[in-house]
Amino acid sequence: MNVTELARRLRVNTKELLELLPQFGFDIGARAIKIDPRLAQTILREWPRLYREHRARLDAERKLKEKEERQKKMTETGPIVLPSVMTVREFTQKLDLPVGQVIGELMKNGILATLNERIDYNTAAIVAEDFGFTVTLGDAVDTTVDSDQRIHDLLAGVATADLIARPPVVVVMGHVDHGKTKLLDAIRKTNVMDSEHGGITQHIGAYQVEKNGRKITFIDTPGHEAFTAMRSRGAKVADIAILVVAADDSLKPQTIEALQIIQALKLPFIVAINKIDKPDANPEKVKQDLAARNLLPEDWGGKVICVPISAKAGTNIDQLLEMILLVAEMEKDKIMADPNRLAVGTVIEAHKDAGEGAVATVLVQSGTLRVNDTLGVNGELYGKVRAMKDWAGREVSAALPGTPIKILGWKQAAAVGDILEAAADAKNLESKKSHKFSPATPAIQKVTGGNGETEDETKVKFLNLILRADVLGSAEAIEESLEKLQIPAGLKYKIVSRGLGNITESDIMQAEGGQAVVLGFNVQLPYQAQKIANEKKVEVKIYKIIYELLDLVKEKLNAMIEIEVKEIDLGKVEVLAMFKKDKAGQVVGARVISGKVANGAKARLMRGGLDLARFKIVALQAGKQEVTDVEKGSECGIKLEGKLDLTVGDSLEIYREEKVEKKVK
Ligand code: GDP
Repeated sequence: MNVTELARRLRVNTKELLELLPQFGFDIGARAIKIDPRLAQTILREWPRLYREHRARLDAERKLKEKEERQKKMTETGPIVLPSVMTVREFTQKLDLPVGQVIGELMKNGILATLNERIDYNTAAIVAEDFGFTVTLGDAVDTTVDSDQRIHDLLAGVATADLIARPPVVVVMGHVDHGKTKLLDAIRKTNVMDSEHGGITQHIGAYQVEKNGRKITFIDTPGHEAFTAMRSRGAKVADIAILVVAADDSLKPQTIEALQIIQALKLPFIVAINKIDKPDANPEKVKQDLAARNLLPEDWGGKVICVPISAKAGTNIDQLLEMILLVAEMEKDKIMADPNRLAVGTVIEAHKDAGEGAVATVLVQSGTLRVNDTLGVNGELYGKVRAMKDWAGREVSAALPGTPIKILGWKQAAAVGDILEAAADAKNLESKKSHKFSPATPAIQKVTGGNGETEDETKVKFLNLILRADVLGSAEAIEESLEKLQIPAGLKYKIVSRGLGNITESDIMQAEGGQAVVLGFNVQLPYQAQKIANEKKVEVKIYKIIYELLDLVKEKLNAMIEIEVKEIDLGKVEVLAMFKKDKAGQVVGARVISGKVANGAKARLMRGGLDLARFKIVALQAGKQEVTDVEKGSECGIKLEGKLDLTVGDSLEIYREEKVEKKVK
């Protein structure tokens, strides 16, 4: 095979091909003209993969180089100052990078965010550093404005006389393995009320303890993911933070991160120096490290309260609680709320329960929430309080400010960080049809036609999906990112059914009926369902990473795209003579009147203004020479394939067909 032919088939230029082949391990000289056909076949087969890898390598090298250049530049310009929370747009502007690159990098870190969504400093810092930037946290505190302002607005007009003290809300933060969970357990144990009341302690995202007759509310979500989620939505729930630092490990990266968050939010905090029971515990080292960060401990004449504890042995837990009450006392002006109004709060935990349906824990921040109150989020009707349970599993009929409460009765599932506003009746809330993930599984929707749909809709091709996710948060994230796909006209995806939890047999049956693909996210395909899926040949795909799921949807949609062929006019010829006619085609003599005629192009036969037939030009001659094209003014011989017979005087419009690449983005 000619090297030029091979290059054409691989769609690279010959020079590049000859340069790359040796790099790809093919033993071919730089001036080769012909290639052994067997080897050419191997190259044709292997090329896409090798070329892709080659491009990926170049890409990686380029990125590394850019990163190094940035790192070098950073040493001159100093770090970029970022706020504690920013929109993706603000972030890209700060880095001065293309939006696509930043969003791509966020995705690699498992974060799906659009331009207007907010990310926190920690996330931004990781991504910025991946790009080679150094960043630092600025003082600008805009984290809490939204919800503070909102709650403030909601409370406006309330006489201060109505305000009473409410329990302080405490979050526990710190480096992994420093004992946050252990401490939360230890605190819970100091105040065992569940058995007295016959309840069973439930993990609802928060719990309360009583100390010296006063209640303290602890947010006990594992790690601080939920806290971060709330913060990125601008919600403020905590009044006081406990920073857990292991005495045998001192300050670690996540400790510093937590400190940055605490400082950005201006949260009063207490340092719990944990694990003092360990032989290698060194509480003094922790204090030194704090002092080195301008956080001087109280017993060294500073303001930072440090309590040495052992979560494991239960040492000094009481003292820690006392300190919390002390800080709450100092902050008492801020830890107030009006119980005599409709409740306002923040969703701190949300999930779907097999028996109870959509449930969510709300921290009531102002007002009193009562059974039968209407649940509103963003002015939308989300349901009605059917029942409420506290952290000890006790059913209650009213929840006061500062109380975390599990609410049943959601018609529409709330998300962590949503701000709840109760209403006395539904009239004040609009019952909008929400685009949000609804826990209720609708029956298969009609995929085409229907009255409300436009005529065009009937021509649209649909990719049907059945979606199953582990938790609402991921289901929402998936649906939101699906909505952001840019899909060419004439093609759509449709989520014919959705649900939380493992894939069921009925999902498979439904998929078969609706010709849908079943997509699972962090769920499983139980054996029975798998068996049916195999029998019915239903495609089931399960993912742990959202963008991989998106990639599949894109791939499926792309496969459904009909290739559109565009006709590009090249010129016009007039038939001067008929030379030959047989089954294989006809050869005519022609003059090029405008543009040009090219071998391999197509021709339209126009007679009396009518588009009569199409031909393919299979050979082109000028004089006795085979040529690739002939320009205006010249005469040529054209061999054409096509049904109709041409006659002298016919005019042919010459055009080239070009496939229009349409892709889902
Ligand atoms: P988290 O990642 O911050 O939630 O840390 P954990 O609460 O899971 O604790 C990490 C490990 O440290 C566990 O093995 C705990 O048993 C242990 N641990 C926690 N607190 C103490 C403590 O006060 N003393 C000792 N010796 N071990 C502790």
